[in-house]
Amino acid sequence: MIYERVALIGLGLIAGSMSLAMRRTGLAGEVVGTSRSRATRETAREIGLVDHVFDTAAEAVEGADLVVIATPIGAMEAVAREIAPHLKPGATVTDVGSVKRRVIEAVAPHLPDGVHFVPAHPMAGTEHSGPESGFAELFDNRWCLITPIEGGDPSAVERLTALWNGLGANVDAMDPDHHDLVCAVTSHAPHLIAYTMVGVADDLRRVTDSEVVKYSAAGFRDFTRIAASDPTMWRDVFLTNKDATLEILGRFTEELFALQRAIRTGDGQMLHDYFTRTRAIRRGIIEAGQDTAAPDFGRGGAKGTR
Ligand code: NAP
Repeated sequence: MIYERVALIGLGLIAGSMSLAMRRTGLAGEVVGTSRSRATRETAREIGLVDHVFDTAAEAVEGADLVVIATPIGAMEAVAREIAPHLKPGATVTDVGSVKRRVIEAVAPHLPDGVHFVPAHPMAGTEHSGPESGFAELFDNRWCLITPIEGGDPSAVERLTALWNGLGANVDAMDPDHHDLVCAVTSHAPHLIAYTMVGVADDLRRVTDSEVVKYSAAGFRDFTRIAASDPTMWRDVFLTNKDATLEILGRFTEELFALQRAIRTGDGQMLHDYFTRTRAIRRGIIEAGQDTAAPDFGRGGAKGTR
């Protein structure tokens, strides 16, 4: 057992998966939680997602050794403010937000002395959300990035690292700004591109009738999975990782123009060289065990990741 009592604030995909994975290997003595809406709290109670569901975050964190803030990023400051007076001295507070610098700025100032804040981001997810979407295997062989704050307690970082290892994840420590840039490339910009592509196809549907949906397996379908992700979560990601995302989108636009020019001028060599380079990246991801080489993106077994 790593923590005697863990409190989850928010009971969606990530918190639910953490609870189920903690149970799998007995990482916590007791897991309690709370969620903003009565409906989610009721569902969590019905399916026994955690050992006890409280009506408020203030009650949930009483006596907890670890508090996990697992709400959309935009709600984290208010949560920190609400729980601060109720935290147990010596407790660790962590979060699972997909952006790190802004979360540190929003949460850290509200926490009392003697409470350790260790920000983290499990790089695993699906396009589903809510209390019934979690599963214990979500973090298996995925990465969790921990971005320790300056002057933080190394033993609190070590303990949280042990928890994430126990949940199935590999853990790396990273500077928060660097984390935000890496995620802008690997996750945030790709999501925006998928949202855009699906939006364009939706506009075109008027001219193509239902053909976009009917023939979607040609590639479009994979964009639609990403573009079905939770709107609130992704709104908050773009609002809070603005600079890094805009930087990557600027580069993306330049590359897109270069490819457009190659198509217009019939520069087949350029296109072939480009696609050869990108194919090697896919191979590298498979070799790193972060996806399957099965055709059609391993449909029929593999769960989505992000
Ligand atoms: P989710 O399934 O949509 O669950 C979100 C939870 O936060 C729900 O319990 C919801 O409560 C609560 N919540 C929503 N708005 C709130 C507010 N304004 N104040 C207080 N609570 C609020 O979300 P998730 O996918 O678990 O994501 C949670 C966090 O994990 C996000 O910060 C996200 O960036 C991060 N993350 C997500 C993924 C992913 O792929 N999904 C991957 C890595 C990290 P109600 O249901 O009661 O309204």
